Amino acid sequence: MPRILLLLPTTTYRTEAFLAAARRMDVDVTVGSEKPNTLARLNPTALLTLSFHDLQRTARQVVDFAAKHPIDAVVAVDDQVTVVAAAVCQALSLRQNSVESVLAAGNKHRMRQLFLHAGVPSPGFRLCRLDDDAEQLAGQLHYPCVVKPLGLSGSQGVIRVDDEPEYIRAVGRLVKILHAEGRKRKAASRALLADPVSTFRSAEHGDQLLSLTSHFLVEDFIGGPEVALEGLLSRGWLRVLALFDKPDPLDGPFFEETIYVTPSRLPTVVQQQIARCTIQAVRALGLSEGPIHAELRLSPDGPSVIEVNARSIGGQCSRTLKFGTGISLEELIIRHALDSDFEPPVRERQPAGVMMIPIPRAGRLSEVHGLHDAESVAGIERVTISAHLGQKLVPLPERSVYLGFLFARASSAEAVEAALREAHARLQFIIEPFDSNNEPAKRSLVPADSQQ
Ligand code: ADP
Ligand code: CA
Repeated sequence: MPRILLLLPTTTYRTEAFLAAARRMDVDVTVGSEKPNTLARLNPTALLTLSFHDLQRTARQVVDFAAKHPIDAVVAVDDQVTVVAAAVCQALSLRQNSVESVLAAGNKHRMRQLFLHAGVPSPGFRLCRLDDDAEQLAGQLHYPCVVKPLGLSGSQGVIRVDDEPEYIRAVGRLVKILHAEGRKRKAASRALLADPVSTFRSAEHGDQLLSLTSHFLVEDFIGGPEVALEGLLSRGWLRVLALFDKPDPLDGPFFEETIYVTPSRLPTVVQQQIARCTIQAVRALGLSEGPIHAELRLSPDGPSVIEVNARSIGGQCSRTLKFGTGISLEELIIRHALDSDFEPPVRERQPAGVMMIPIPRAGRLSEVHGLHDAESVAGIERVTISAHLGQKLVPLPERSVYLGFLFARASSAEAVEAALREAHARLQFIIEPFDSNNEPAKRSLVPADSQQ
């Protein structure tokens, strides 16, 4: 029986989906994670404790393990471990993305440089330092523009600014976000650097050591609808698995993900342009194997690539996708990792969608109402509240979490979108606001769709 190594980051919504997929298949699974697990003593081939912050060491550990228990494929369960997977595959001589290409996809500045060089349609950009003189820079920019961190995700720290005072305020916010992130990364590791991206940089590009938390990008704001393309690469060839429309306008100042619906309602020619642009972007980055998740905006001049991640769709959103006779996206990814000639079946025809339930305001979540009402909306398949009662909620741009996920399937994309909106309107979240000491103050009832 083939063996796969599932690399599991400490925080992800996706563990269960990947484990369930592996259980359905005839494969032995070894889970590689940073946390030592007492069960490892009972079944030493099922769990492997690795030190993700040290890529070379991790690669050696896996090579030693594989000498006794051969590994046929390595699958990264989420963003944080894609570089680890690439490094481990390199050490095991398994077909995978190069470490360099995955690093490029994880650093928004490197990605913009490669896109520019290859002529991939994408926003104009400028690299700035946190300690640059914001007032002076503000006078040199073209508005509207977007400030964004180089290495965060989920739109954390991404802010649209329309004029000089907004720019100065946004940079002030970003400084705090990136300082907090820098402290977190240091605290998570005995060494200076906790995340594999930076650790690898320390070996390869010493001068860029802290760039992910000491620099940021200013980009031209690209207006127009946004789409997400879910794809699978085999030897550099892209197969489009699904194209999602994001029907809520993303005009800023913050860019909260909400609704994703597939199939796209865009004309076929536009969908083809999107696929062509994504192929260009993937080639520019040098990605060649496994899942990709690309985001593009459709400006009046045509598609513009916001980013390409070397991973599949995040959160629990993959539940919207089923292939052939009910194969999950995770199963498809594992099958492809075991055999890059594997021909994935096409997505089921039925329109489907998900809503990532946004955080309407800061505070502490104390009660959730209307779950049953939301579940009873025609077309709604599932309502998952992932935030727990008592959880401190911090909205974008400072933090990026969701209250939960709504899933729908219906006979048309329009009906899917309507079901998601109706179910969302039936949910109520009681959020205790914080007083000035950051402690819960008097309670307030916040309908799910109210904005701050
Ligand atoms: P993250 O990795 O945090 O998701 P992104 O670069 O994908 O960061 O930005 C998050 C969202 O912000 C995008 O999905 C898009 O809606 C918006 N955005 C980012 N950059 C731009 C831009 N240059 N023009 C318009 N919108 C942008
Ligand atoms: Ca993104």
